[in-house]
Amino acid sequence: MSANLGARVAIAESGRFGGTCVNVGCIPKKLFSYAAHVRGDLKEAADFGWNIAEPTFDWTRLLANKDREIDRLNGVYERALTNAGATILRGRAVVLGPHAVSVDGKRYSSEHILVATGSWPHKPDIPGADLAITSNEAFHLEKLPKRALVVGGGYIAVEFASIFNGLGVATTLAYRGEHLLRGFDADIRQKLGEEMARKGVAIQFKKNPAKIEPGLKITFEGGSTGEFDLVLFATGRKPNTADLGLEASEVKLAADGAIVVDNYSKSSVASIHAIGDVTNRLNLTPVATSEGMALAKTLFGGTPTPVDHENVPTAVFSHPNLATIGLTEEKARERHGKVDIYKSAFRSLKHTMGNSEERIFMKLVVDAESQRVVGAHMLGPDAGEVIQGIAIAVKLGATKAQFDATIGIHPTAAEEFVTMREKSA
Ligand code: NDP
Repeated sequence: MSANLGARVAIAESGRFGGTCVNVGCIPKKLFSYAAHVRGDLKEAADFGWNIAEPTFDWTRLLANKDREIDRLNGVYERALTNAGATILRGRAVVLGPHAVSVDGKRYSSEHILVATGSWPHKPDIPGADLAITSNEAFHLEKLPKRALVVGGGYIAVEFASIFNGLGVATTLAYRGEHLLRGFDADIRQKLGEEMARKGVAIQFKKNPAKIEPGLKITFEGGSTGEFDLVLFATGRKPNTADLGLEASEVKLAADGAIVVDNYSKSSVASIHAIGDVTNRLNLTPVATSEGMALAKTLFGGTPTPVDHENVPTAVFSHPNLATIGLTEEKARERHGKVDIYKSAFRSLKHTMGNSEERIFMKLVVDAESQRVVGAHMLGPDAGEVIQGIAIAVKLGATKAQFDATIGIHPTAAEEFVTMREKSA
């Protein structure tokens, strides 16, 4: 973006282009998630008249196909940089001061420096933690385990527990809290736990490992034990700010190591900016991209543009998927006082052909006074695809009456968002 706006830009990268999202995050995760969904589709095939011989699964083939796609994307990103006129510096960068950077020992000077080094998985400091893997390694496992323990209750934990379970691994998820996905709407948190358990994930709340011994024998806090073939810690990520020369350059860091920035992504040093997970604001790829675009406009487009973190939609690719835009019911009550709540739980048309008990859940949160829809939440197939469209309406401040005046597309699950008439609270 900056190069396209006419700046002379160099980018230093010691690994592959595309960052966490492309290499060990969103993209390979979604490919794995598709693979895991196929199992359910094969099971349902019989309900639609198909006879399919007992299917088998080849992990090695999935990995090879995934790696080929990631290689392709690495190339796409590299070409995008070159085409924009950016100079690629292969190596690790260290900030030397407000206007100087070294890349593998060679010194460069620049008017502006942007740090976009992302974050890294964090394991709790318990005995034997090094015997467990993180999401980084989960993308390159030589073989699938028979029994997996996933620790955590956030995005990565529920996504990987769903992937393992879908691929036929006996999967346990241990979470120290009482409901998955802290910060999400309470109904969604409750129902996600129920639906994941229905699909076969053994979810254990209020359970946290205290010790891991060789052979992956786990002792949990409180004394219970378990044995697994793989333990995955999905216990959060920390900003990547170590050994970057930031402290020496007087860039202010928060207690968790994040670079402290203002609304324009400017750090405590005026010429050094930071975007994405390294600032630990809203750690989502499209948010980092939009922070980058805002900064390019600010520095090189002549239009100072603050970042906009309001009404950011997000999806979790658990099975079932879930997605959300705007406020949870709890937050809406805090902010607006009185709210109207509309909820719907139903079996999808697709599932009426078999004996699946899976339920789709949708919820609208409406500010009672203005009648604006301030939150929309969905748990069900392709929730992200549905909520992306709803997000435009919420961002534009649409009212419940405007939702209701929109004609549904029949028969879809999404039409429920424009046909919810009865208040549930
Ligand atoms: P999260 O912060 O989402 O979740 C971390 C989980 O680990 C929480 O349930 C937390 O519990 C638990 N935890 C933290 N510390 C410990 C500990 N010491 N012992 C036991 N449990 C612990 O992090 P993730 O690693 O799942 O993902 C990182 C971020 O990456 C996400 O927040 C999201 O921003 C992004 N992401 C987005 C995705 C998407 O858009 N689909 C997919 C994957 C990641 P508690 O709730 O009690 O604090």
